[in-house]
Amino acid sequence: MGTASDKKLFDDNGLRLDGRSPGDLRPIRIETDVLNRADGSAFIEWGGNKIQVAVYGPREAYPRHMQDINQAFVRARYNMAAFSVDERKRPGPDRRSMEISKVISEALQAAVMVELFPRAQIDVFIEVLQADAGTRIAGLTAAAVALAAAGVPMRDLVVGCTAGKVDGKVVLDLSKEEDNFGQADLPVAIMPKSGKVVLMQMDGDLSIDEFNEATSMIFKATERINQIQRDALKKNYSSNAQDWGE
Ligand code: ADP
Repeated sequence: MGTASDKKLFDDNGLRLDGRSPGDLRPIRIETDVLNRADGSAFIEWGGNKIQVAVYGPREAYPRHMQDINQAFVRARYNMAAFSVDERKRPGPDRRSMEISKVISEALQAAVMVELFPRAQIDVFIEVLQADAGTRIAGLTAAAVALAAAGVPMRDLVVGCTAGKVDGKVVLDLSKEEDNFGQADLPVAIMPKSGKVVLMQMDGDLSIDEFNEATSMIFKATERINQIQRDALKKNYSSNAQDWGE
């Protein structure tokens, strides 16, 4: 990210390498209840990202010294499979995955009604099977759906998107090449009903005007992504209702 490069990231018509306009999202698809043994699950395809999320809980927090008598805690674990990137990634946690796990846990903690489950923990496993930039936001967006599919009471869903700067231009939803050769990357997640920001990070530099342009692109995009989340949950509800003979 951010190193000067003469790689061309826009064509003569101002379109991006994958044919998108600066404000376009990559295709997004979310499916729920894909794992039988989890309390809730979701699978997201976002551009070339493929991410599986499994939710377990609320259940008694362990070890017991972690228990909070006032509320549950959400423990997200973000993991990238060894085969998820071009060159094999060394398996296991690293600084990046620990940081991402922390920011995702905090974002979900804000959305879940944790006060209803004292002494409990809710585990959210985010497994990146194929990575193509924007995995923390795609993982978090799918995690919120998996929590809702698990029936965990929530104030709101959490929905995110990234924007950034590529060849001096602000663009939405960076692809892998744009992330590698661009000048800035701004992942943001909000709770869509209140608009409250629950995750915001920035890699690289944006001027105040660019930052405002990027965030307004993101907020607009989250409306569409939130609709995809809700459609996935509706489909999940209607197929469960069929199973129950409703
Ligand atoms: P995010 O995936 O949330 O955008 P980063 O900006 O840290 O997070 O990473 C951007 C992209 O870089 C990832 O989506 C992935 O495609 C790639 N990437 C991250 N870590 C590695 C790694 N260890 N090896 C190869 N590619 C990686």
